[in-house]
Amino acid sequence: MSIISDSLKRIKPSPTIAVTQKARELKAAGKDVIGLGAGEPDFDTPDNIKEAAIKAIKDGDTKYTAVDGTPALKKAIVEKFERENDLKYSTDQITVGTGGKQVLYNAFMATLNKGDEVIIPAPFWVSYPDMVLLAGGKPKIIKCSENDNFKLTPKKLKKTITKKTKWLILNSPSNPTGSGYTKDEMKKLSKVLLKNKKIYILSDDIYEHITYDNFNFFTIAQVSKLKDRTLTMNGVSKSYAMTGWRIGYAAGPKDIIKAIGKIQSQSTSNPSSVSQAAAVEALNGNQDFIKVRAEAFKERRDFVVNSLNKIKGISCLKPNGAFYVFPSCKKLLGKKTKLKTDSEFVKRLLEKANVAVVQGSAFGLDGYFRISYATSMEKLKVAMDRIKSFCESLS
Ligand code: PMP
Ligand code: GLU
Repeated sequence: MSIISDSLKRIKPSPTIAVTQKARELKAAGKDVIGLGAGEPDFDTPDNIKEAAIKAIKDGDTKYTAVDGTPALKKAIVEKFERENDLKYSTDQITVGTGGKQVLYNAFMATLNKGDEVIIPAPFWVSYPDMVLLAGGKPKIIKCSENDNFKLTPKKLKKTITKKTKWLILNSPSNPTGSGYTKDEMKKLSKVLLKNKKIYILSDDIYEHITYDNFNFFTIAQVSKLKDRTLTMNGVSKSYAMTGWRIGYAAGPKDIIKAIGKIQSQSTSNPSSVSQAAAVEALNGNQDFIKVRAEAFKERRDFVVNSLNKIKGISCLKPNGAFYVFPSCKKLLGKKTKLKTDSEFVKRLLEKANVAVVQGSAFGLDGYFRISYATSMEKLKVAMDRIKSFCESLS
């Protein structure tokens, strides 16, 4: 009999973290690897946020806090939702966790019974299906095509809903494609969801502040009558370059928020007190740098998309947000190149060209790969040259 539980056997380690770790190890071993696998901003946490954390340490803000967030942070989150999303919540509708990841995990653990279905549009962030599986639920994957900008259509949504559907996950702008839903698209999806009174919506807004051109971010609770059935998740990791601080949060129905807190009280207790103090400053402090950084990301996006589309066999859409692109490598798979899958393509790219990216199949759509362009222009230039030479060497 195995010591490992059956529920753990249902899942795999996070592929995005695995690629990032592999690139880290190769670099440490002296290899000149460029890592485009990690989904984290290369920018540093702004100084005012760091100073707030230092002050918290000096002031002795180093004890346990309320399990699901300090009153000061919850207040800052309530104000953030009102200021930026036109959404009114009370503090008992807010929960804070150790990263958005923990909030999502707790939400599934708190709500899923065996066999409950969770609709996950693909390509998806790698952790959604495995979290659902771990909680005993059933991921229902809807493949969204490149022709639809990798977005879920109302028709596909309608067809996938059953009596067992408990959640729909929406992630806009998306990891791994960078596609964002417009207000109108969001409203059309809401129409389908309003007809099915039992479905809850989990809106993952973690890339809210990283958008480009004229794209206007909207979250579903803001543009529909679904607020009472929506858990809106967000965090400071991406917007404020605070991945290592581990602070994420959500707002939604009181019963779900309370249940999330109950799980947290029996697992990790409160997120780090110092990180929470830093997150208060992130949300309440000067927000000007967000636009400046989004501009820097935009310049990189334009460069990467243009460079990729010049490579024979590769094609790439121009995304609205996040810091990922999701190009197709389908034309480079087959007998001629002796590469059968996107996983083989990605593996060979790392071995031959020293560039680490993540295979599309990890995100639920074969024939693609994800590039994170949250790295310096210098590195991106070298990486694009390497990818070009590699692809040309295949034919
Ligand atoms: N959602 C998405 C779509 C993500 O890409 C990430 C980043 N890993 C998260 C949630 C969780 O981020 P964090 O735990 O750092 O808040
Ligand atoms: N969100 C990032 C990514 O997709 C971080 C790694 C992870 O948590 O999966 O690469």
